[in-house]
Amino acid sequence: MATNRVQFQRGLPMSEFLEHYGTEDGCEDALIASRWPQGFVCPVCGGPASCSFRREGRLYWQCASCRHQCSVISGTIFESTKLPLTSWFLAMHLLTQSKNNVSALELGRQLGVSYKTAWLLKHKVMEVMRVREDTRQLSGRVEIDDAYLGGELSGGKAGRGCENKVPFIAAVQTTEAGQPVRACFVQCSFTKEAVDKFAAKSLARPLTVVSDGLGCFTAAAGAGVHERHVTGGGKVGVKLPQFRAVNTVLSNLKTALCGTYHAFDFVKYAPRYLAEAQYRFNRRFDLRSILSRLVRAAAMASPCAAPLIRAAEFHP
Ligand SMILES: [Zn+2]
Repeated sequence: MATNRVQFQRGLPMSEFLEHYGTEDGCEDALIASRWPQGFVCPVCGGPASCSFRREGRLYWQCASCRHQCSVISGTIFESTKLPLTSWFLAMHLLTQSKNNVSALELGRQLGVSYKTAWLLKHKVMEVMRVREDTRQLSGRVEIDDAYLGGELSGGKAGRGCENKVPFIAAVQTTEAGQPVRACFVQCSFTKEAVDKFAAKSLARPLTVVSDGLGCFTAAAGAGVHERHVTGGGKVGVKLPQFRAVNTVLSNLKTALCGTYHAFDFVKYAPRYLAEAQYRFNRRFDLRSILSRLVRAAAMASPCAAPLIRAAEFHP
């Protein structure tokens, strides 16, 4: 069964993690190998290095053509960091290996840094995940449901239209037998225009959309066959076998998020929290390589200054 394959696979044990990434040199070497697998390439002109030297412990290169100097963290998500790379790597390890989400508070405790520092670090890593997952497309048999983040414990109107909740679409690509393969979690109001936009970006042919009776989802099926099941919402929908994959995924997602995070963060940073969940879900079959893949994505990601991270201006 797919769930067992995920649950019982061998991850990256802490002993092995420390062997590779337990020192600053080990982390720097891993970043260099990720960013410049064929050797240094000048980020300004594309030229090779003329020389390398160390400054304040960090390895620098100077370009042979334009004389530009940079280290492996220049122009990446790690730029200007005051934290050692070992802290970044440990954070990325913890954020990708644990079954449930790791909050900034817990991350701060594990790394021995303040909540503020841990929060910023976590959101920078989540931003790398968001950018990496931004072009994700699903095809084949795709179960789609509407869902909400946050607000459930604060009372108020239940269901669609409730205030203080972040609406999002959960779309799960399955095998023909209904086993979940990949997923997209996208913040989206349930209007025809918004769902159209989601479908154009995240769904590809060949496509069979399985959804409930919510009218706007017919838009999602524009390019494919729409296998529509009117459930009336609530527990009836949960029981329908046609929705088993998306319901299981949503249930796990809510457990992981609600047990870890404060609702107030959801509203402002929902795309990042959803992307974190999506990133991990779509790599859940390979926990041994998830860290090295995230390191590579981080080495390729542009710097994201703290004010921009806090402003949470997303441009989907
Ligand atoms: Zn150059």
